[in-house]
Amino acid sequence: MHEFKYRKNEFCCEDVEILSLAQKFGTPLYVYSYHTVVDHFVKLKTAFRSINPLICYSVKANSNLAILKTLVSFGAGLDIVSGGELFRAVTVGCPVSKIVYASVGKTSYEIEEAIKRRILFFNVESIPELENINCISKRLNRITQVSIRINPDVEPKTHKYITTGKLTNKFGIDFKSAYQIFLICNKFSNIKISGLHIHIGSQITESVPYVSAITKVIEFVEQLKRKGIVLEYLNIGGGLGIVYDEETPQTAEKFAAKILPLLKKTKLKIIMEPGRFIAGNAGILVTKVLYVKAAVKKKFVIVDAGMNDLIRPALYGAYHQILPIRYTLNAIRSSEKVDIVGPICESADFFAKGRRLLPLKEGDYLAIMGSGAYGFSMTSNYNSRCRACEVMVKKDETFLIRKRDSYEDLIKNEIMI
Ligand code: PLP
Repeated sequence: MHEFKYRKNEFCCEDVEILSLAQKFGTPLYVYSYHTVVDHFVKLKTAFRSINPLICYSVKANSNLAILKTLVSFGAGLDIVSGGELFRAVTVGCPVSKIVYASVGKTSYEIEEAIKRRILFFNVESIPELENINCISKRLNRITQVSIRINPDVEPKTHKYITTGKLTNKFGIDFKSAYQIFLICNKFSNIKISGLHIHIGSQITESVPYVSAITKVIEFVEQLKRKGIVLEYLNIGGGLGIVYDEETPQTAEKFAAKILPLLKKTKLKIIMEPGRFIAGNAGILVTKVLYVKAAVKKKFVIVDAGMNDLIRPALYGAYHQILPIRYTLNAIRSSEKVDIVGPICESADFFAKGRRLLPLKEGDYLAIMGSGAYGFSMTSNYNSRCRACEVMVKKDETFLIRKRDSYEDLIKNEIMI
């Protein structure tokens, strides 16, 4: 699953000891395994090789240029949601014919930029957005290719904040409205609707919601066919879950076994947009214990990473496994439960609550596992904290892929009056 393992009690990423990285680069520190990133991409590609889908890695999961460039060099396209992500995609040399652009709130400026760049298509999320894209395309004298993002109204059985394919969510267009769009598509003189898109949520661990959503979409494709409307693409989004705790998510092979028969039926070109599946278990956040505080009702282990570095526990109550980076076999697992918390002035600033860990003391280092996706990409400078640095390990080589913020970085865009 990933290349983070103990070797003689020392926690390593590929062939490099995490301790040496923590000492060299300081903490908090994100560490990524190059081979894990590549392996996850290749696993998906291999599982679906019979239909040769375009796999557009979802930039939002982890948008570091080194990770994007690695994936693009292996043939990935990119799924973007903003002008900033388009800039990143172009910076790493992603062919524009492999860029797809979703988001319920694309600005006119962002739309114009993407049209000028000639990306593969926009995943359109509303009728006003479609009208806007048409209008901008007309002004630029272009025909713009789009997919309609369908909201299939399925329950993905995940956290409600990452559920995106129910009618109560802001994403996509219901079938009835989508059908109306196709009936009047001649009205959009500068748009070619060439596909359908779904993305039903994230951290989905079973195939049932996908099967249900794809089945509905296929029926819709057939309905359109009967009206003489023929499409070219079906984009099934991302959402594949990974192991954080005791989940048993489907493997790429099992996922493929369930949905390939459906996808083959459509004869459409398939696009996928995995993010978490590729980056999630390919990264950890390394942090140092600052203090152990025995308070009246609890014991707090205060570490130097905070919710600004990894917001998933605070935002979703997400579980992350926490491991010592030096494992002492003779240490007895503490009978005490501790809260692992950061230095930020919020009680939501925690990484674990009531967790039984090996006894911890000041100066110990911990690895917060499964932090490669929606980790660094969701960081902030809250409490005027410098964002962590990021390193990528490739066998026994280490690459600094993002410098730690400096105090100057914190204020560089501010103007005193
Ligand atoms: N595609 C779209 C449109 C998304 O909004 C997202 C995530 O929010 C993804 C793909 C990637 O999802 P995941 O990281 O769960 O694969």
